[in-house]
Amino acid sequence: MTADHDHDDDHGHSHYDTPGSRRARSQLELRAMALEAALVENGVIHTDAIDFFTDAMEHRFGPHHGARVVARAWTDSAFKQRLLDDGNAAVAELGIGGLEGNVRVVENTPGTHNMVVCTLCSCYPWPLLGLPPLWYKSFAYRSRAVAEPRAVLREFGVELDDSVRLQVWDSSSEVRYFVLPDRPEGTEGMSEDELAALIDRNAMIGTGLVSLP
Ligand code: FE
Repeated sequence: MTADHDHDDDHGHSHYDTPGSRRARSQLELRAMALEAALVENGVIHTDAIDFFTDAMEHRFGPHHGARVVARAWTDSAFKQRLLDDGNAAVAELGIGGLEGNVRVVENTPGTHNMVVCTLCSCYPWPLLGLPPLWYKSFAYRSRAVAEPRAVLREFGVELDDSVRLQVWDSSSEVRYFVLPDRPEGTEGMSEDELAALIDRNAMIGTGLVSLP
């Protein structure tokens, strides 16, 4: 890289700035910016591709899609059955799918709680949940989710009764598990949109539960 060739100035934007903000950048952001600059400068990737990917992650993928799937399953038992039988086909009905899909849906019930990990790396159903959070990729989570899952859940604020069976699923690039949370009581009159608003990412990884606000 040369001193008179600054990428922020050349392209007029950076993926890490918000307009008018010049806050201190984290080590991670600095590393990502350096990597982006090096890839662009060496012709490995074009900024358009980065824009496309960023847009996909912010709009086309994300937990709002997963929440939509859960809300539909809660309100349409035939859809729920299709979702459990063939997750990929069922989410495709809602226009969701693509890169890093291969989903298999596991259902929470009052007697069974499911929790997802990728012990090897960070396999995760991108179309339904977006990119995994940092803790999901951490060695601590990847090992402890298997060795002491109830203790991990407790740290996430999930206190399971001893009588509840806990199933831990190890995702891979072939099969990415997705938790269908149990529908809470008191939501009987809610619309699909209202239900979807209750469901967050952790509930669909199994490190959270759905509760009423
Ligand atoms: Fe993985």
